[in-house]
Amino acid sequence: MQVGFEDFLSIFWGKTRHKVKQVYTKEHHNIPIEGVDKDALYVIKKLQNAGHTAYLVGGSVRDLLMGVSPKDFDVSTSARPEEIRGIFKNCYIIGRRFRLAHIRFDEKIIEVSTFRSGDPETEDLIVRDNEFGSPEEDALRRDFTINGLYYDPSTETVIDYVEGFEDANKRFLRAIGTPHVRFKQDPVRMIRLIKFQARFNLNVCPQAHRALLDCKEEILKSSPARVLEELLRMLESGFSYPFFKQLCDGGMMQHLIPTLSAYCELAEKNVVFELLEIADSVHKKSRSRFDRIVLLAILVFPIFERHIHILQKGGSPFHLGRIENEAYFIIEEFFSPFLEIPKRIVGTLAMVLTGQFRIRPQTGKSVRIRLPRIPDFSLAVDFLYLESLYNPQLRSIYEPWKKALKKS
Ligand code: ATP
Ligand code: MG
Repeated sequence: MQVGFEDFLSIFWGKTRHKVKQVYTKEHHNIPIEGVDKDALYVIKKLQNAGHTAYLVGGSVRDLLMGVSPKDFDVSTSARPEEIRGIFKNCYIIGRRFRLAHIRFDEKIIEVSTFRSGDPETEDLIVRDNEFGSPEEDALRRDFTINGLYYDPSTETVIDYVEGFEDANKRFLRAIGTPHVRFKQDPVRMIRLIKFQARFNLNVCPQAHRALLDCKEEILKSSPARVLEELLRMLESGFSYPFFKQLCDGGMMQHLIPTLSAYCELAEKNVVFELLEIADSVHKKSRSRFDRIVLLAILVFPIFERHIHILQKGGSPFHLGRIENEAYFIIEEFFSPFLEIPKRIVGTLAMVLTGQFRIRPQTGKSVRIRLPRIPDFSLAVDFLYLESLYNPQLRSIYEPWKKALKKS
């Protein structure tokens, strides 16, 4: 590979930055201590009282700096897993590759990890990730500068080894280290880049943008389960439309879900994008969200519906058993060759897709409103509701099902 001036700058930049530790006091940042979860504060205090270093880390510090309320609060500490277990009664050690402590407070879990050492700057995929390290090393192994910050509640300071504080203020998304190397080491970081860009509307640094274009095919080397989890999380985020649009526009979708990529390129009216926008606005307006299977159905249903209509060719409607078989077939085709969907999800998704042909009148037939004894059937009705927000003609079909569900 030829090394251009930009690559040179990026390599040089990657090697020389991140040297100075900066500490920002309350006067410089806008993190209200009340914004930090009280159980996370308790965990940090107890670790510090036992003589360990302990900070809030990662996504929660980023969210607090960006003025968003975090969904979970992770803690990083110098204490080893067994030491953490010795301090907290409600503590479980999880993970084989890297052991983490989970501290339980009723429904909530505070995840506590011991500082780890960084990945070497090589392009090998990371397979080992199990050396303990210093706070600085732990910050440097993270993905983006805005995700590499610590918050120490005892002094109300932000501790920054990666110049992420300035980047958060400027709403700038910059990879820690050399983006080409870091994306090859762990290609899921590219999906994460698109996720943060979509979620916070950030400007992406040109080197990371270039690396994303150059390395997007590498995504096929990553774990399908991790990629699926990031996609599902983004479906639930309230920012699914900008995220999926960016995946398609930037060419990443071509590798992840080629069928969806082709649909988005060719469809005269992109119903998938329209439905994602609606799901996002429902999420933002009501703070309630659809189940992840209903959201996943958004991606598949327009293609599935078209497939069935083409097969039926205006003849009499298929019986539900046939439609269900086709649903399994389309789900398999749709997500292949890269993504692997767990059987449990496939089963429920097939039910939601098939269910649309059960609850909507097909040509020449009327629908009997009787709830079938199918587990999670309400998800099929939820999907109908979602589509009725896009197509108001479905409203009158949805209402009696809603009533039936209420009665049950
Ligand atoms: P979200 O708000 O979606 O949870 P997050 O940044 O908190 O976003 P997590 O998966 O919860 O994402 O990860 C917690 C932290 O771990 C991140 O903020 C980042 O510092 C680090 N991290 C996560 N994934 C990676 C990765 N692939 N490479 C390096 N660091 C990562
Ligand atoms: Mg998180």
